[in-house]
Amino acid sequence: SKGSAMVTAVAYRLAEQRKLIDATLAPLKLSLTQLLDVKRRMRQEMDRGLARDSHATASVKMLPSYVRSTPDGSENGDFLSLDLGGTNFRVLLVKIRSSKKRSVEMHNKIYPIPAEIMQGSAEDLFDHIVGCISDFLDYMGMAGWRLPLGFTFSFPCRQTSLDVGFLVNWTKGFKASGCEGKDVVMLLREAIQRRNEFELDVVAVVNDTVGTMMTCAYEDPKCEIGLIVGTGSNCCYMEEMRNVELVEGDSGRMCINMEWGAFGDSGVIDDIRTEYDQLVDAGSLNPGKQRFEKLMSGMYLGEIVRNILMDFTKSGLLFRGKISERLKTRGIFETKFLSQIESDRLALLQVRNILHELGLESTCDDSIIVKEVCGVVSRRAAQMCGAGMAAIVDKIRENRGLEHLKVTVGVDGSMYKLHPHFARFLHDTVKQLSPKCEVKFLQSEDGSGKGAALITAVACRFRNSSES
Ligand code: BGC
Ligand code: MG
Repeated sequence: SKGSAMVTAVAYRLAEQRKLIDATLAPLKLSLTQLLDVKRRMRQEMDRGLARDSHATASVKMLPSYVRSTPDGSENGDFLSLDLGGTNFRVLLVKIRSSKKRSVEMHNKIYPIPAEIMQGSAEDLFDHIVGCISDFLDYMGMAGWRLPLGFTFSFPCRQTSLDVGFLVNWTKGFKASGCEGKDVVMLLREAIQRRNEFELDVVAVVNDTVGTMMTCAYEDPKCEIGLIVGTGSNCCYMEEMRNVELVEGDSGRMCINMEWGAFGDSGVIDDIRTEYDQLVDAGSLNPGKQRFEKLMSGMYLGEIVRNILMDFTKSGLLFRGKISERLKTRGIFETKFLSQIESDRLALLQVRNILHELGLESTCDDSIIVKEVCGVVSRRAAQMCGAGMAAIVDKIRENRGLEHLKVTVGVDGSMYKLHPHFARFLHDTVKQLSPKCEVKFLQSEDGSGKGAALITAVACRFRNSSES
């Protein structure tokens, strides 16, 4: 009959659509073999970054942080911290007490950094930062105080000591001119002098991963790894000095800021990267750079999703085949929306509401597909992150000649903290790829600012004791 022919035609069309969706998403679904291979390649790149001969051409830079131990509870004093490079710029006052009941008290204020300043000149950026410090000191009633300061600066820096950090290159949304190749501590000191209003002792420049590790290690001495999966992504861990060929000395350990976001910049994960990843990369502020980061951090995941949705729309699979101006707009899918769309508590109608808020009018079928795309992209992100982490924990285990390792990872960042499934997929992947390691993940609260203060405290104590 005519009716059943129509039903057959509809069923046929649906089956064809399904085939097309599955075929498009297939390259984003990674097998265990692929993940093990990513782990292996990460390990190779780590070794290349650490070794003197290969360091110059290595994409994973494995930068020495000059932090040689985790906190021991004896840290004490009042410190200022700056936290630059995440979603917000913050100035913090951190009061650390080492008395019987150790405590850390923090006060902080958030200062947005306008895009013109992020992408303006070095002077404007650092003058802005010092302006914010001035406001903070007034606000706290501390004008005129001279405090030691720890500068959390969440970009790759080549350090030659705790208080020297040459910016290798900007990442994420920053692109201020005249900073790359410069010592950011000097840029900060010069801006303080230009303002000529207060004096500060800049004692340490600290990557956010290192700050996060230190903060979590204050609570859990097994914490020897720091992980950020937020706007950007990166990892640090305690490496044996004998393996840190860029720094003199073979005894003890040093925290290494891996800058793992750049993993793959030499092409070693190009077999995993899809055409969508290439589009996202091409449209970014730093094409060709931070290829690993672009597979998993908040600044890029929404863009991957948006590029897939555009492709689906072109093929007539979504939004009645009409690409709206909204859908063409870069950056509309913030991490916040991805997290909401993937929440299990959400009914499809609510997914449609979110899309509506984004300016995208969807049918019920559309919303199912959108949710599926988000799920595939965020699962791959967590698995890639897990493969990288698996390389690190097994390296630490081998370093120490252990059959079994128990270690804690201090973590921060919106993808890890806010996304409904990211953390679980990450944990599962590490367990699967590194069965000889028992890895605990500890979320840090305000980790980078507090950690910079802890590092500053250790440095000040050392300075005072060597003066006396
Ligand atoms: C930066 C790292 C930083 C990470 C997380 C990356 O883009 O290169 O230095 O730790 O983002 O903020
Ligand atoms: Mg050495």
